[in-house]
Amino acid sequence: MLKDLFIGLSKNQFLNTAAKKYGLKLGAQSVVAGTNIAEAINSIKELNAHGISCTVDNLGEFVMKKEDATAAKEQILEVVEAIHESKVDAHISLKPSQLGLDIDYSFCLDNLKEIVAKAYGYGIFINFDMEDHDRLQPSFDLLDELSKEYDNIGTVIQAYFYRAAEDIEQYKNYRLRIVKGAYKEPADVAYTSKEEIDKNYIKLIEHHLLNGKFTSIATHDHNVINHVKRFVKKHEISNDKFEFQMLYGFRKEMQLELAKEGYNFCTYIPFGDDWYGYYMRRLAERPQNLNLVAKQVFNK
Ligand code: FAD
Repeated sequence: MLKDLFIGLSKNQFLNTAAKKYGLKLGAQSVVAGTNIAEAINSIKELNAHGISCTVDNLGEFVMKKEDATAAKEQILEVVEAIHESKVDAHISLKPSQLGLDIDYSFCLDNLKEIVAKAYGYGIFINFDMEDHDRLQPSFDLLDELSKEYDNIGTVIQAYFYRAAEDIEQYKNYRLRIVKGAYKEPADVAYTSKEEIDKNYIKLIEHHLLNGKFTSIATHDHNVINHVKRFVKKHEISNDKFEFQMLYGFRKEMQLELAKEGYNFCTYIPFGDDWYGYYMRRLAERPQNLNLVAKQVFNK
């Protein structure tokens, strides 16, 4: 029930616009690494000092005006420049809908191409985050198109989709992030029970690890992490073939512990004033995070 409520709230345009005006509120500051690039780079430096790499998401999604998509592109280009100049250990995560996928496919492709080309010149990897089902195939199409020219790109496989097993095979030569899936999807396209999603998640992770391509296991689920640790040991898969990923502000001690144990670890760094939808989805996944909201509201 709460999940549905927060997913519904995440799509509320009025609240989204209001949130931009008022800055990080309602506990969002504990899971969003600031509203500007300088703050994000500082957070990255702190994590790098602990041997943790980062993937940076300049927050924004479901953009419906060309000027907003162009502004998002310019901001991401600035982040690419800032990563290069500050020499931090970081790459980019972006969402095609932020760059105009819902407006015009070719326009979005051109925006993405500019970012990917600049990052390619600096040796910076770009991850295409995956959104909801309507945007899934067009996002793969964008990836296919850009892969003809660039190899510094990869994407996400969401384990709740029935088609994920086919997608992971088709994209077996890519660096892939594998997740359970964050959006609310109907039963005709996706598993809806936790048991089925978790089972498929493990299956996909094992599949890509055995294929030998770099696998980012993005989860806060200690059971999955422990399973992966046992699996890589049994199959003698070396640490340079995979990494664990978690979101900024989540399970901080476990993040540091995994890095200390010698595993590659990458923290997802969301930043920017368009934090509202991202934060609502995190509340949907884990209503316990409401504690954060309560603390912020009552500690004024
Ligand atoms: P869950 O199924 O939420 O939790 C499993 C168990 O883990 C819980 O029962 C609890 O015991 C424990 N647990 C979980 N969180 C915590 C916590 N904070 N503290 C203590 N215990 C906890 N989704 C997309 O659809 N597209 C994307 O591109 C995408 N990118 C992502 C990138 C990263 C780096 C991460 C971490 C997630 C991403 N997601 C993305 C979200 C993902 O799909 C899941 O919705 C989200 O990670 C929640 O699932 P989970 O695997 O973390 O575990």
